[in-house]
Amino acid sequence: MDAPVTSRSEHLFDAAKAVLVDGYARPLVVKPFPHFIDRGEGCWVWDVDGNRRIDFTNNFSTLIHGHCHPEIVRAVTDQAARSACSTMPSELEAKLAAAIAERIPSVEQVRFWNTGTEAVMLAVKMARALTGRARIAKIEGGYHGQYDLIEASFQPTPDAWGDPKRPNTVARADGTPDDLRHQLLVLPCNDVEATRSLLEENAGALAAVLIDPVQVQFGLGAPSRDYLQMLRAVCSRHGMLLIFDEVVALRNGYGGTQGKVGVLPDITAMGKFLGGGLPIGAVGGSRDVMSVFKTSGSGIRIAHSGTFSANPLTMAAGCAAVRLLDHGQYARLDDLTDRLCRGITQEMAAAGIPGEARKYCLGAAKLMLQHRSLENWRDIYAYYQDVGLDNIALLQKCFLAEGVMAARLSFILSTAMTEGDIDFTIDAARRAFAAYARRVAG
Ligand code: PMP
Repeated sequence: MDAPVTSRSEHLFDAAKAVLVDGYARPLVVKPFPHFIDRGEGCWVWDVDGNRRIDFTNNFSTLIHGHCHPEIVRAVTDQAARSACSTMPSELEAKLAAAIAERIPSVEQVRFWNTGTEAVMLAVKMARALTGRARIAKIEGGYHGQYDLIEASFQPTPDAWGDPKRPNTVARADGTPDDLRHQLLVLPCNDVEATRSLLEENAGALAAVLIDPVQVQFGLGAPSRDYLQMLRAVCSRHGMLLIFDEVVALRNGYGGTQGKVGVLPDITAMGKFLGGGLPIGAVGGSRDVMSVFKTSGSGIRIAHSGTFSANPLTMAAGCAAVRLLDHGQYARLDDLTDRLCRGITQEMAAAGIPGEARKYCLGAAKLMLQHRSLENWRDIYAYYQDVGLDNIALLQKCFLAEGVMAARLSFILSTAMTEGDIDFTIDAARRAFAAYARRVAG
């Protein structure tokens, strides 16, 4: 296995460290330095050293059509030549909202912002304004962006996490205000009875339960349909709102994950692919729920605006991306994901490596180095301890050396991929597993 030539990336990274903290605005997925991008086309990316790789990160799922789809490029460049942003509304805003409302069962109206983090912040604000209550519940381990209240108890550790049936609220950032613990109730994912009693005990103070219905951050430990149904029932009984964070989960089918599992939230937070590769966040719900934004009538309940909200470049890219994502493309993505999972799992068995590639969402799979069922964050933590993060990083590097980019062994597909691209990946996996087995044995 030849190491790719990376000298220019290394040089750029060293230089960047002088003016950027740690050289980059994101945590490093590949160590010791990232490969700087030169360009992308379809499912392929080239780094500045001329190495070509198949991209299974797709910018953590924003690029559902891969890089530089000609229709999206045309939509953005045409719009850039007309107006990049303005205080005047563009007709594209209502067009994208209509496309979302047509697909997502619980959504009649939409409000746009610029990131998934902001969408979740807005959903929380809406729930508080609509119920007059302050507290929010989320499941332990859930990722919903970087709002300090909501990022608490994302990846807590055993020294802090407490009783499995009554998890502690564990702040993530230094300096987080102490009263946060009273604002956030943390739930044990998939423990129906423990969750029900926690919610019932706290019902009078809770504005909402927030959950990502596929737990995409890990690709593991998804809430079951029974668990989601229980949340729906308890929320309805006690006047709390159910918020689905479908920032990634929306890709799970034409009607999002809610359409697939048949459990409808009151508020849906969205983002990622809806922006066609440009920054986006959005919330949606019934007309009644969304009326909380009204500035006409009986007075403002939530003041929401934003200099770049619904900017026409994002709206143009988003309209093109959503239009391209028809039923046929969903079916194709699903078939490609099954083909990839089958092929990788077979190659693992042939190489004598325990584990499998598991589909966790339409068009997304996770390679696991064990066959165990994972119900919640604590199971995921134990899995990572057992297999070792170093082994996961090593296998990721072996894939990279074979021309396959899959961050933390997540494979996020794009419609730009063909069966040939999947077969290329399975072939590469064979060589990656052989190299990995040699390194682990050696
Ligand atoms: N919710 C979920 C489920 C996510 O995966 C993410 C981003 N990975 C976010 C919210 C935050 O989105 P953004 O990075 O656009 O702020």
